[in-house]
Amino acid sequence: MSDQDEKPSAPPPHGRILRVAVAAPLLGLFDYLPSQAADAEPVPGQRLLVPFGRSNRVGILVEIAETSLEDPSRLKHVESVLDEVPLFQTTDLDLIQWAAAYYRQPLGTALFTALPARLRRPASFADDSVPGIRATPEGHTLDLGSLTRAPKQRALLAVLRDRPNGLTLSALGARLGDCSACARALEGKGLIERCRLKAMPQPVQTPSSAGHALNPDQRKAVEAIAESFGAFRPFLLQGVTGSGKTEVYIRLIQTLVASGRQALVLVPEIGLTPQLRDRFQQRIPGPIAVLHSSLSAGERERNWHRAARGEATLVLGTRSAVFVPMPRLGLILVDEEHDASLKQQEGFRYSGRDLAVRRAQLIGCPIVLGSATPSLESLHNATTGRYGWLRLPQRAGGARAPTISLLDIRDQPLRAGLSPVLRDAMQTELAAGNQILLFLNRRGYAPLYTCHHCGWVGDCPHCDARLTLHLGQQRLWCHHCGWSRRLPQRCPNCDGEDLRMIGRGTERLEEELRELFPQASLARIDRDSTRRQGELNRLLEAIRRGEIQILLGTQMLAKGHDFPLVTLVGILDLDQALYASDFRAPERTAQLIIQVAGRAGRADRPGRVVLQTRHPEHPLLQSLLSDGYSGFAAAALEERRGAELPPFAHLVLLRAEAPLADQPTAFLREARDLAERSDPDEIHLLGPAPAPMERRANRYRAQLMVLSRDRPSLQRFLARWNQGLHGLRHPKGLRWSLDVDPQDMF
Ligand code: ADP
Ligand code: ZN
Ligand code: ZN
Repeated sequence: MSDQDEKPSAPPPHGRILRVAVAAPLLGLFDYLPSQAADAEPVPGQRLLVPFGRSNRVGILVEIAETSLEDPSRLKHVESVLDEVPLFQTTDLDLIQWAAAYYRQPLGTALFTALPARLRRPASFADDSVPGIRATPEGHTLDLGSLTRAPKQRALLAVLRDRPNGLTLSALGARLGDCSACARALEGKGLIERCRLKAMPQPVQTPSSAGHALNPDQRKAVEAIAESFGAFRPFLLQGVTGSGKTEVYIRLIQTLVASGRQALVLVPEIGLTPQLRDRFQQRIPGPIAVLHSSLSAGERERNWHRAARGEATLVLGTRSAVFVPMPRLGLILVDEEHDASLKQQEGFRYSGRDLAVRRAQLIGCPIVLGSATPSLESLHNATTGRYGWLRLPQRAGGARAPTISLLDIRDQPLRAGLSPVLRDAMQTELAAGNQILLFLNRRGYAPLYTCHHCGWVGDCPHCDARLTLHLGQQRLWCHHCGWSRRLPQRCPNCDGEDLRMIGRGTERLEEELRELFPQASLARIDRDSTRRQGELNRLLEAIRRGEIQILLGTQMLAKGHDFPLVTLVGILDLDQALYASDFRAPERTAQLIIQVAGRAGRADRPGRVVLQTRHPEHPLLQSLLSDGYSGFAAAALEERRGAELPPFAHLVLLRAEAPLADQPTAFLREARDLAERSDPDEIHLLGPAPAPMERRANRYRAQLMVLSRDRPSLQRFLARWNQGLHGLRHPKGLRWSLDVDPQDMF
């Protein structure tokens, strides 16, 4: 690190100082001399191997300077240059540098977050092929009827017969779930064989499907955005679920790639990508590079290179894809822009959405934020005119929006948590052969396990939290730290036998529904039931084929998947969320309700949504029902304005956690003193206060809130404060972090 006290020295005789970011949580760049062996001068964006401490590390050349503030005799030479061509272009480096400054992260951390894991090590590039399987000639000619006794093998073979070149194992897994046993069986019969495949399918020359004629709203949106090609312009595309937003994306991308440019689509979660990718693949010429965390390291790296080399016309990825170099990038789309998972919640806490806007600004291209339930931040930007505001108020293709009604369940006899009205409605739909969706945002069997004799409850020994009963596993689990214990058969406190399960999670609901509706076929969709790779897609396929009559699940159901055969949606229990302490809770709850509701119905089968509640008079529910999401959002924005909360003020959380109860608060008090001593303008400090769940995984947590109405003042303050915080002494084991624009308040 540069030493401020020493005099700048003359530049070293033979050239330049390479300023390098190293993968270490240290602020600042490190100066090196060029490699003694190198013949070509490296350029910014290239990876270098540099001596660091007692070993060599991978670094990224950020800039080349004439002089160093360090004693030239102490500068070391770069060991070697790892890449022939720079991995990052200047605009990529600009974005990452901007992000590091904005989120107060060391540049090294930010740069290495932006690289696929393998490239953080001095690894060479991965082999460009992936394992796959294909049908043998025998497999192609076999009478499929001969496999009726082995339906999974038959399904697998049928899929492979449609793909003469074969399918990658991961593509197969995504379609059919885990089918390794079947594959082995078929291989044993000589019907299929292993092969190596190019990771990326060859460019689709003729997209296989033409798409719809756009309706007037869609056409207006496409024209407005396409007019801005070549210049920075942010848009909010607010369209109810099923209004044809994706169709708008596709048209825009088609137009863009026809002129030889690349498009970037960010989505919140991987669950969304298979369906979306298929749809894009059918309509968009050229290779699509998918990027998300459940790809193998090799696949990630290959797709990253395809984007970076400009081969992929479209990159579809989760938040970290915002950093992927794309030399011909001409359009950025962020789908479900309200979704909290676009924000990374640990380590380098950046918002993929907000960085996408910044990136569009840096390279000068339009950016579209799409959602049926936009975040209040984006709505505010739209209403104040900073973003163009495009609306698709109608479902496309004539489908009608579902009607939402409240169902007061006070004093109602509930069975399986269902009121008589909802049960009757379910019977009617089942009799008519329709699908039903039940939403319960709590997984496990029961949230509380207690002794009826002495009052003992199963608490996590490491967290301020109750253990959730998972009956199938016969265990009590902590959903916060992952600790679990076997289900005690007798009370650990009084040895009593009357242990009871209180409350209901999806596991219990499923069991109860099987009793209530013994004839109906059920599918449960939550983190537990979809843990196995490919299982979620298997369930979704079964639902789409109409093989499932009742589907139940957690908020996974609200994310991106459409259930056109569903005619009745029951939302069982959101009352808790109505009174949560996080100021974003009402916004999240409203989004969840509208998103779940929007999954149902299509043209000939309009959906109906029933929301069970004990608080039918709650203003949030009332505004949502009478005026829809826009009405709710307008009211919620007024509340935020009154309370001076985002988007009317900018928020930063300083979090601290430590093994002993008083340590985080003591540290934050010092941090607060430090902040006040710097006499900041326009900065308000709140706290320190314990986190809503103070103890988690045996660590005590507290936070200090910083609010400001002025973004530049806040950034200036943070720059000074962050430096000071790094200088504060603190007990061993204490960790602190800054979260700029936090999404969660704990
Ligand atoms: P969103 O992304 O807003 O949920 P989609 O683009 O997925 O909406 O469209 C919802 C459904 O309506 C899809 O089945 C799509 O094929 C269909 N659709 C979209 N645009 C049109 C249109 N202009 N005419 C007829 N059907 C359309
Ligand atoms: Zn007891
Ligand atoms: Zn715990």
